[in-house]
Amino acid sequence: MSQPGRQPAGSVRELELRVNPIACDAHGVCIALLPELITADPWGYPVIRPGPVPLRLLALARRAVADCPTLALLLTEHQQQQPDRTRARRQG
Ligand code: SF4
Repeated sequence: MSQPGRQPAGSVRELELRVNPIACDAHGVCIALLPELITADPWGYPVIRPGPVPLRLLALARRAVADCPTLALLLTEHQQQQPDRTRARRQG
């Protein structure tokens, strides 16, 4: 049995990329490093694909975070979307 707040043995923690829009200066380093997950909006600011970072791209995601000149890019624990209880009640 696992302790509360701990990962069960053998599980992989899912991480997702986030950007602090106030700190980001649209340098584009992250976009160049990780085009699979990050594209540019019309002003050059990053648009990050929502959801967990695939394991095969995790090393590149960590590098993008480390290379961001303004420390605006973050890797955080992926939060699962909670079901919309209001909608579930209406449908059920
Ligand atoms: S590398 Fe950092 S500052 Fe540059 S676009 Fe990405 S998040 Fe913004």
